Amino acid sequence: MRQKRAKSYKKQMNVYLHTFKFREPFQTIVDDEIILNCQKASFDIAKGLNRTIQGETKPMITQCSIEALYKTNNQDAISIAKLFERRRCNHPPANPIPSSECIKSIVDINGENKHRYLVATQDKLLRNKLSRVPGVPLIYMNRSVMVMEPMSEATTSYSNSFERNKLTGGLNDVEVGKINKQEELKTEGSEKPPTKKRKGPKEPNPLSMKKKKTVNTDSRPSQDAKNTSQPKPKRRRKHKSTSEKTEDLEKPNSSLSNSSEPVVTHE
Ligand SMILES: [Zn+2]
Repeated sequence: MRQKRAKSYKKQMNVYLHTFKFREPFQTIVDDEIILNCQKASFDIAKGLNRTIQGETKPMITQCSIEALYKTNNQDAISIAKLFERRRCNHPPANPIPSSECIKSIVDINGENKHRYLVATQDKLLRNKLSRVPGVPLIYMNRSVMVMEPMSEATTSYSNSFERNKLTGGLNDVEVGKINKQEELKTEGSEKPPTKKRKGPKEPNPLSMKKKKTVNTDSRPSQDAKNTSQPKPKRRRKHKSTSEKTEDLEKPNSSLSNSSEPVVTHE
């Protein structure tokens, strides 16, 4: 297996371990088609599974899938399947249902992968259906290479909400599951749980608050500033001797007053 793929599969398995609480040995439902495919390619399916997910797997086959294999009369494939644990599905062996329906019925329990199964199947339609259930690792044979489906959108969004809830303090697994279920069903109530708890300081009692000051103070200082400039004409009067002089003196006075202004304001 190429390094890049191995790394991405490992990363994916870590999500199943961490978020969906998968445990080794990983129970893997294999269908009759993938067994036939591997048998034809002389590919050791059990070893292949271990190598792909980089952990110990426990391959299992449903009653209906092995019935389908019996019908092929492929003795090699049948003997491979017989090595695997039989998963009872409560479908009558005399009247088995199609493998895909059988596998879906034991994996998808009300939109949840309750038994934490991995599924190895050549049925693309079944893989599509199971990809809508969060936390179902899907494996299939691509020619003679065993591959894992990229993480489904359902799994990714579940994992993201799981991480988000952990950050907001919702460490309870039960609660995480509830929220996701609601997302699955697309009920309106799904948005309620996060907004429920409101932490942080409450607003103060309005009766204990001081009233805000009125904004009159803004206009007064400007008037005061004008008042401080009024003494200047008084000075001018002192030097009032001739009408001509006053005119001449007015200009330097005004310039003086201007120069004195910054000093006043700084004080
Ligand atoms: Zn069945």
